[in-house]
Amino acid sequence: MSVTELVRDDLRHFAGYSSARRTSVTGSIWLNANESPWASIADADGRTNRYPDPQPAELRERLASLYGAVPEQLLVGRGSDEAIDLLVRALCNWGEDAVVVAPPVFGMYAISARLQNAPLIEIPLIDGNQGFTADLDAIGTAALSSRAKLVFLCSPANPTGQALGLPAIAALAKRLRGRAMLIVDEAYGEFSDQPSAVSLVDSMPNIGVLRTLSKAHALAGARIGTLIAAPELIAILRNCQAPYPLPAPCVQLALQALEPEALRATGARVFETVAQRDRLRRLLTDSPLIERVYPSQGNFLLVRFVDADAALRQLLAAGVVVRDMRGQPQLNNALRISIGTVRENDALLGIIGIDTLATTQVVA
Ligand code: PMP
Repeated sequence: MSVTELVRDDLRHFAGYSSARRTSVTGSIWLNANESPWASIADADGRTNRYPDPQPAELRERLASLYGAVPEQLLVGRGSDEAIDLLVRALCNWGEDAVVVAPPVFGMYAISARLQNAPLIEIPLIDGNQGFTADLDAIGTAALSSRAKLVFLCSPANPTGQALGLPAIAALAKRLRGRAMLIVDEAYGEFSDQPSAVSLVDSMPNIGVLRTLSKAHALAGARIGTLIAAPELIAILRNCQAPYPLPAPCVQLALQALEPEALRATGARVFETVAQRDRLRRLLTDSPLIERVYPSQGNFLLVRFVDADAALRQLLAAGVVVRDMRGQPQLNNALRISIGTVRENDALLGIIGIDTLATTQVVA
């Protein structure tokens, strides 16, 4: 069975919009797209008066080699948020096909499900001695019994920090084969010591992997996210996507960020972030104000405070903004702290009342 069987019947052969840039014609005088023949004075490079290539080959090639895939397996879009939404819309029949998630987790899976009126099946993470873990057996059983078309796993998970090993992902995908796509969201993959699930996509066509340039690559404002999945599924999703999803200036920025020198700088920043994350975790764990700091494979820490309200107020009063997670299930006293620069992290620790003098020199 082809993975395209999981796509909505009415969209499987949908051709989508035939935009001016998708028709493969060549020429030197472009009078086919009602564009301005002049560049804007705001556009110093003169690249943006034309509609952009919907899926620039060079960007796809570089991202494919970065992620260990081939270009045909890639759909590049406006952040991984767009791929999440496209997957739900293209696979789930309105009001029928369910989406399975493991909360507390990144909220966009539920938002996209809601927008498509897809039933949301929630299998809570289990809070244990080693941190949070996903109950993959229960997730598989729920997906099969609820006619789910999509299962979203976040690895490393936002906001809980744990990452999944490949054998566990492969086993769940095998169970779901022919019934549902298993989407592994690796938005924080660069910060993790677990290997990427991209290596499973070739042999297990019901696995899709989400990656993004928004986190480790420092381009959240450019909105470049990638879905890596079976080429036949990618081709269908492409037809469901907006005609020109990738703004030309953003593509330029992404290409620059994928140059070897930029990638080396990204690697160094990831290294520093991981060192800061582990240092912050140690220091926070020792504080009497803090109940628990979860292990994290991402660029953030999930922290349970003895008095989260007081900590949040103190931090805000000092201009330090962290994410209040208390509205999420199981996280009634938790804040999520993104890892900043040494100076930012030290400012946060100082406000919480932790003396950093003894440790700052070690990592400075
Ligand atoms: N997945 C996860 C787990 C996230 O935390 C986020 C953003 N916070 C995203 C996806 C979306 O990232 P983007 O759309 O910027 O690629």
